[in-house]
Amino acid sequence: MRIISCIKPGELAYRDAPEPVCLPGYSIIKIRRIGICGTDIHAFGGTQPYFSYPRVLGHELAAEFVEGDARCWRKGDMVTIIPYQHCGNCIACRSGHTNCCQHMQVIGVHTDGGMAEFLMVPSHLLLSAEGLDPDQLALVEPFAIAAHGVGRAAVLPQENVLVVGAGPIGLATMEMAAIAGANVLAIDVNDSRLAWAKKVAGVKAAFNAQDRRLEELLRDATDGDMPTVVMDATGNQHAINNAFRFMAHAGRYVLVGLQKGDITFSHPEFHKREGTLLSSRNATRKDFDWVLENIRVGRITPKKYITHHIHFNDIVEEFPHLIADANIVKAMIYLD
Ligand SMILES: [Zn+2]
Ligand SMILES: [Zn+2]
Repeated sequence: MRIISCIKPGELAYRDAPEPVCLPGYSIIKIRRIGICGTDIHAFGGTQPYFSYPRVLGHELAAEFVEGDARCWRKGDMVTIIPYQHCGNCIACRSGHTNCCQHMQVIGVHTDGGMAEFLMVPSHLLLSAEGLDPDQLALVEPFAIAAHGVGRAAVLPQENVLVVGAGPIGLATMEMAAIAGANVLAIDVNDSRLAWAKKVAGVKAAFNAQDRRLEELLRDATDGDMPTVVMDATGNQHAINNAFRFMAHAGRYVLVGLQKGDITFSHPEFHKREGTLLSSRNATRKDFDWVLENIRVGRITPKKYITHHIHFNDIVEEFPHLIADANIVKAMIYLD
């Protein structure tokens, strides 16, 4: 079968690899869609902390079940996967926090992923695709990440929630916070992304991060309160450190995005707010189920974020151009 390998940062290449042979506890799936994620772009750029090379990227998948000991599926059934392989034994897993397992092995990050014709995955990580098409299915994972982040923030109705970064995860986070009933504010450096956020993600007010009056604008938009929840979806060190000052007194700050460096902030400023700092890693099965159900009933329509469709055969050549395109929100690789 053909695979796409990220040989080293900046280099993708087609390779021939043997088709996987199914092991007990696993299933073989035939890949139909691969969503391109910020994680893949960071891996390609060499800026993601958990990567080693060569690596087959791709963890946002829609696939057909081929074979395996997952009893609920028959050959040809559409599935998606939870790409987070957890150990089941560590302190986090034992308390149900499988998303932050001590020995986490994310498919497409720590182990080879879905930029391939076939993939073998643990059967218990397959999810039913009933009522969803391949594009929707491949978007379940990023929406589950957003749902998890909003869950970590414990967003309440009417709260002012600021989401920093209007990429796919940021937009999904905005939409989830809006569904939770929040008054959602967005900032980003890209005005066309901000326009998207207002148009499709339920955002009430959007501001350019480079606006000098940003703090004042946020204060005005929140009746002087400032946002009680700030969520980072940039994974940018400067943006993360800078956004502490936007958090209201008694507020919480949730890091959905990830970067390689240290977080620094003023202790007196944080202390006087009695701030709460949280990270949000991956998502749990509950988040995936919630997203699947909400797509089924039409409450969330993630396909509106797809701006590009690229065939698997064109991706090696197109990938560098694709990620440099300022108009990209979500790109989807197809193998039909
Ligand atoms: Zn992703
Ligand atoms: Zn574990």
